Amino acid sequence: MKTLNDFNFKDKKALIRVDFNVPLNDQFEVTDATRIVSAKPTIIKILEDGGSCVLMSHLGRPKGVQDEFSLKHIVPKIEDILGVEVKFTDNCVGAEAEAMAAALQPGEILLLENLRFHEEEKQGDKDFAEQLSKLGDIYVNDAFGTAHRAHASTTIVAEFFPEHKCFGSLLAQEIESIKKVMEDGEKPVLAVLGGAKVSSKITVIENILDKVDHLIIGGGMTFTFIKAQGGKIGNSICEDDKMELALDILKQAEAKGVKVHLPVDVVAADDFSNTANTQFCDVTAIPDGWEGVDAGPKSIEIFDTVVNQCKTILWNGPLGVFEMESFAKGTIELGNSIANATKNGAFSLVGGGDSVAAVKQFGFENKVSYVSTGGGAMLESLEGKTLPGIAAILD
Ligand code: AMP
Repeated sequence: MKTLNDFNFKDKKALIRVDFNVPLNDQFEVTDATRIVSAKPTIIKILEDGGSCVLMSHLGRPKGVQDEFSLKHIVPKIEDILGVEVKFTDNCVGAEAEAMAAALQPGEILLLENLRFHEEEKQGDKDFAEQLSKLGDIYVNDAFGTAHRAHASTTIVAEFFPEHKCFGSLLAQEIESIKKVMEDGEKPVLAVLGGAKVSSKITVIENILDKVDHLIIGGGMTFTFIKAQGGKIGNSICEDDKMELALDILKQAEAKGVKVHLPVDVVAADDFSNTANTQFCDVTAIPDGWEGVDAGPKSIEIFDTVVNQCKTILWNGPLGVFEMESFAKGTIELGNSIANATKNGAFSLVGGGDSVAAVKQFGFENKVSYVSTGGGAMLESLEGKTLPGIAAILD
């Protein structure tokens, strides 16, 4: 696995695929700069080596060229974070981009306009990738968030750098963290899978059963399992067509020696709203007209014991409807348990969409070992897939 340390960037131009797909407000100001901050170590290392950086990214889902999706809006924020002036070219390929890249001096940074202004980017077009490749001597992929896409800038462009391509430090860290859980995690290994639906996590669950000793299933997924086992779930979210699958997962887990922990009690609400009436009930005895929206106190206690027994912990998906304050306790308490286990030496990885949002919202970001920057990319990794953007560097 080639990383930044395998190259000396002195007098070299690094063509870096970053993930600067950041949220903007209606004044076009960056409202969450995490992704820019995450790319900083790679950029600074190359500049300190005496190299220069050509940065390329997408922003949003433009249809053709649309000013609101221009990366020019984020130039000031990047300059702020890096403390270096950032030049900008309003087309990511073509004569001007090539001339500006050629003129780049050691220590300088050039940001290319939104890659997705060209439909060839998402098509993984080879000619487009070749044009991009003219802008650098060494290709660095540091965009985990798009590593599961075989786009021109994330995958195809690597073909033009057979000997001169590597992972940036962020992507290398993501790969190491997943490996720590999926391959060489210290036992006991625990996965906590929450979120809304069994159907979106099924491949993850099946793949993960070979890697873990304990599996906590929480969130909306719970109720498909409970109903399949004959429990009364009231109006809780449930995928009836996945009940057989749920029973099969439990059987597979048993055969593989994986201990599955489902909630034993829940917070039930009489409405899907923050101001609903609530009661605690046994997970198998939820009255009609009520739905399970969070883990109950007994479940929280059981999960805390399991989490604190484990040395390697993966967390994907909230334990309840954490977006509503009244139903956030289970997710917050799980975060506390994982933070405590981490403090006592466990390795904890949080990844995949909503659990990352929860971790940030409740301030656990620095209390877990690693928070992944990729939603879909993380899920596909947990499903056991080799991501095209990663394979392209390993080739
Ligand atoms: P996912 O994207 O599959 O990880 O699902 C995350 C979503 O699951 C969040 O928006 C939560 O509000 C939702 N969720 C968690 N628990 C429940 C539940 N008991 N009922 C309905 N939705 C839930």
